[in-house]
Amino acid sequence: MKLSKGEFETFWPFISNTWTAGTRRVSSTHTTQYFRCLFHKPETTHAKGTGIRAKSTRIAIACPARMRVNFHPLQELYSVSLTSQSPHNHTLEEVDERRRPEAVKNIASQQIACGYSPATVLAALRGQNGRFPESLEALVEAGSRHLTLDDVKNSGRKVLTRYPDNRFSSNHFDANAQVQQALEFLSQDNVWHYKDLKAIRECDGKPSYAIAWAHNTRIHALTRHGRFVLMDATHKTNKLGWLLYTLMVRDDCGSWLPTCHLLTEKADGDILALRLQTFKQWCGGKWQLRYILTDDSAVEQRAVRLAFRGLMDGETEVSHLLCRVHCERTIRRKLAGDALKETRQHLLAALKHRRTEPGCDESIELALHTCKKEADKTYIRDNWVKVKKLWANYAREHSPILLQVGIASNLPRLVLIILGR
Ligand SMILES: [Zn+2]
Repeated sequence: MKLSKGEFETFWPFISNTWTAGTRRVSSTHTTQYFRCLFHKPETTHAKGTGIRAKSTRIAIACPARMRVNFHPLQELYSVSLTSQSPHNHTLEEVDERRRPEAVKNIASQQIACGYSPATVLAALRGQNGRFPESLEALVEAGSRHLTLDDVKNSGRKVLTRYPDNRFSSNHFDANAQVQQALEFLSQDNVWHYKDLKAIRECDGKPSYAIAWAHNTRIHALTRHGRFVLMDATHKTNKLGWLLYTLMVRDDCGSWLPTCHLLTEKADGDILALRLQTFKQWCGGKWQLRYILTDDSAVEQRAVRLAFRGLMDGETEVSHLLCRVHCERTIRRKLAGDALKETRQHLLAALKHRRTEPGCDESIELALHTCKKEADKTYIRDNWVKVKKLWANYAREHSPILLQVGIASNLPRLVLIILGR
């Protein structure tokens, strides 16, 4: 088969993954390149990965296909011919599953060079979850049904290494230097409250570091609207792996405002409590916390108990609430499977719909009644029944503000959006 240089260069990236290059010969008139099929080795299996999820993969099936490509530079012509007796003994799909075509990797690499993140590029290539079905069809057509995030990342690696994201600069400094730099930045303008904190962990006696900061106007917001506060941690915001805790309040217009932030090395109740006390000081003791909503984290609950001691400090008793979204996820995960479908439904009814305490109790009773295994019953009794006030809907019915929590229940996502990620 004869192809012009342009044609060959257009088509080759779509099938180059099928071939591995062998001998190359150069003569005065042309260049010859021999290829063998990617699967030319005899059938072998080997374990992919280690540990319990290791699986055995067939990587070669002794495919006999061979090919020769001659390039005549003078005529700018390629001649391609199969040199083996028999063609491939497998489908093209199998090759694509093993190695992605160059063409799609090139597109991914170009897009990453335009500044899009690998996840964005992958979503776009896959047609944005069905919004652009033609994109997905084109991707499948191009042999990249199996394209993964790692493929996209690897395709863009060259560009990313050459032009690293400057948001990640200074990352060769250790944590201490970075904290110092952050404190310097915060001290430049007179609008920030900030403090670096150190606490000794009760569990192992080791030190735990953190840095807390808040804008003056947000301290004002916390003082004014801090009756009901959402608190949650976001991970993966920095290379040190420190957790970013944020406190959010709802303003007069019903918008959620991030108020105080904390970057902490270790998530523990002591440092969180210390931070909450710092925030209290920044508010000049005028922060009247009544309800705090967190995910089901023992650390956060302990911190709130340590920092807001209620009547002991002459304050209002603080009611701790658990985030409904996290609770629902936990219920669905821990009580998964068809056998527990009814149990799950009853618990979710108590979580989301039952409006009175007797109604909630009825749902919980039904959940326990439909549960067959003793271990699951114990789990429900220990983790849900005892603390029903923290999560059940009935405990929030009396206050309209608490019923609006669902809007901002996905806090980490909200924080990331606000931070512009
Ligand atoms: Zn083959």
